[in-house]
Amino acid sequence: MAKVKIATVWLESCAGCHMSLLDVDEFIIDLSKLVEFRRSPITDIKGFDDVVVGIIEGCIGNEEEKEVAEELRQHSQIIMALGDCACFGGVCAMRNTLDKADVLKRAYIDTPSTYKGKIPKSPGVPELLNKVYPVNQIIKVDCYIPGCPPEPEAIKYGLTELLAGRIPVVPSNIMRFD
Ligand code: SF4
Repeated sequence: MAKVKIATVWLESCAGCHMSLLDVDEFIIDLSKLVEFRRSPITDIKGFDDVVVGIIEGCIGNEEEKEVAEELRQHSQIIMALGDCACFGGVCAMRNTLDKADVLKRAYIDTPSTYKGKIPKSPGVPELLNKVYPVNQIIKVDCYIPGCPPEPEAIKYGLTELLAGRIPVVPSNIMRFD
C-alpha cells in the first residue's frame, strides 16, 4: 500500500510543536510504515509536492510565512493547524497589541545594547505583516490540534484519525500537556 504523504512547516513558532510530534514514542515506528514525510524540517526537503496532509506549526506574521502557508494549502488535501500558535496566534500574537512601527523600532533601534541601529530593509528579509494571524485567518484549515505544545497523545490521535479517513476532533482529556 502506498504511503500517505505528509508535509510539515514551521512558521512563526518555537519548534516545540515539532518536538512534540517527535515525542510520540514508539508510535513513530508505526507512523513511519504508514506515512512518508515530504517537505518538513524533519526531512529538510525544501520544495513542495502534492501531499494528503499539510501540518502547520506557528502563526503567520510576515510575508514569507503567508506565502508558505498558501503554497502548502495548494498542495494539501487536508491542512492541520498544530499547536496554539497555529490555532489561535499564540505568544507571537502578543505583538498585535502594539503598532508594527513601534515593534520594529524597539527591536532594532531602542534596545540598550544597540549602537546606531537601523530597521533592516532588504529583499532577503521578509516584510512583517501589520498583525500576526492564526493560520485560519489566511488559509482554510480543516482540523486543529491545540496545545502549547500539543500533548503527543493528541498528535497521535489526530494522525490516527486522519489515516482512518476521519477529520479529528481532539477530546478535551488529551488536549492539555502534562
Ligand atoms: S504552540 Fe507553543 S510549542 Fe508550539 S510553536 Fe507555539 S509556542 Fe512553540
